[in-house]
Amino acid sequence: MVARATWPDERIVRGTLGNIGAKLATERIERTAVILIGRALAAEDFRESALYDPAYQHRFRGEKANDHRADLSTRADAPVLAPGHVWLAGAGPGDPGLLTLDAAAGLSQADVIVHDALVDRRVLALARSQARLEFAGKRGGRPSADQNDISIRLIALARAGKRVLRLKGGDPCVFGRGGEEALALMAAGVPFRIIPGVTAGLAGLTAAAIPATFRGMNRALILAAGYGADDEALDWTALARTGQPIVLYMAMRNLADIAERLMRGGLPPSTPAAVVAGATTADERVVTSTLDRVAADAQHHQLGAPSIIVIGNIVKLREGLLGGVHAAQSEAAS
Ligand code: SAH
Repeated sequence: MVARATWPDERIVRGTLGNIGAKLATERIERTAVILIGRALAAEDFRESALYDPAYQHRFRGEKANDHRADLSTRADAPVLAPGHVWLAGAGPGDPGLLTLDAAAGLSQADVIVHDALVDRRVLALARSQARLEFAGKRGGRPSADQNDISIRLIALARAGKRVLRLKGGDPCVFGRGGEEALALMAAGVPFRIIPGVTAGLAGLTAAAIPATFRGMNRALILAAGYGADDEALDWTALARTGQPIVLYMAMRNLADIAERLMRGGLPPSTPAAVVAGATTADERVVTSTLDRVAADAQHHQLGAPSIIVIGNIVKLREGLLGGVHAAQSEAAS
């Protein structure tokens, strides 16, 4: 459980499914907490590692006095990217306006920026002019750089005394292999920190005027990877049975197959669905459809990667919201 995440008084309480309720009570945490459940949580907590930049740990824990009136453009409390350190940062879905201030601080300090294919050109344009840009990404599932090679490269750059920004689309740890890279850095003894980013699955929905959650409609949202439609990859029937909206990443190639499995799992063919391509980029496109037709419609409109797909009743809310969004935009433009 993470209470008041990223606030000065952030607290992390660990437990098990059996005792987390009791812990919540003894720790007197009533609100502003997220509770995470799953086997992946047994993995190491990077921030407890001695390598995790101590200055950042302190800042995270609010041990340094923050001037809350600080001007954001000069940011007295901006973290320092030190030579020999690596920041694993999220670049958000595209629009540079969705960068975090910490990722922007990384762009303005890094000697080398190792980025993947999804990092928007407008974001890379914010790098300081002396920075070297290195592409190390994967496109459409085909690895153009081996994951292990990327980690080796990051370690070599850090050991050469570079200030290294490893920039990934969205959030570095949402289908981004940020965790693997962090573990490799830890194993190599390279100091690092992880900077969260706005993940495409959430930004894409909001950009398309589809609320991720809506009172009375859904109480969960499933983020799933669609690169393997086979039963071994994910239990699509079980996901269908929850009745909760599903957001798919990396699913364009298998969309017809996944939709078929979800329908076989019990989701009505008429379930609303939308494809959001290039969310928050200059090429953003949104196509709304239904589960039985979404793959064909995506193909018809020639939507390719990167796209997220959302399946569920929340998609219907777009219609009602769009009128208002457009009205506000034309008002602002006039
Ligand atoms: N770490 C990233 C996800 C990487 S996996 C994140 O948190 O967003 C790559 C997949 O992300 C793509 O196949 C696509 O499904 C999705 N994606 C990334 N950027 C996107 C964008 N701007 N619009 C729509 N989908 C996007």
